[in-house]
Amino acid sequence: IDWQEFDLKDVIQSAIHILKPEAERRNVVVSSMGPLQGLPVRADRVHVQQVILNLATNAMDAMLHASAAERNLVFQTTLTGTNGKVEVSISDTGSGIPSDKLSSIFDAFYTTKPAGTGLGLSIARVIIEIYGGKIWAANRPEGGAVFRFVLPLARPG
Ligand code: ADP
Ligand code: MG
Repeated sequence: IDWQEFDLKDVIQSAIHILKPEAERRNVVVSSMGPLQGLPVRADRVHVQQVILNLATNAMDAMLHASAAERNLVFQTTLTGTNGKVEVSISDTGSGIPSDKLSSIFDAFYTTKPAGTGLGLSIARVIIEIYGGKIWAANRPEGGAVFRFVLPLARPG
């Protein structure tokens, strides 16, 4: 593990930059919200970027059948735990997750895609837990899914 202290906002910005061309091809509008101050975490930034890209790729897959005018991918950062942690949420306007599957989606090899590996979310969970965090999923009342993960801040505010 290549441990570094880095700003989570920079990794989110670079992930957005990487996925932008694919989002444009798929008519997905990408936006981000959250505090402007730094969000320092200690981890291997390549691993954290991989988690963000996995979640965003799943979100775009889930919006394939949404109307082209309603494909939104939103990244949000929030300070939590009396500012000792940062929460990242990635929400979409896709199909959502059947409620009886919410506990299975993180299992290795669980996939509903014809050519899926079913490994993305299980790897994401391992990575986040290595760095002392948690990751979970929920459905949004408005439709679509939201994935959230928290990581401890390297220098709690
Ligand atoms: P894969 O993408 O190869 O199927 P993942 O582990 O990344 O494997 O995801 C497992 C399954 O979880 C997906 O096949 C899909 O059924 C479900 N899933 C993941 N993200 C979303 C999402 N944003 N909206 C709806 N379903 C999702
Ligand atoms: Mg995936």
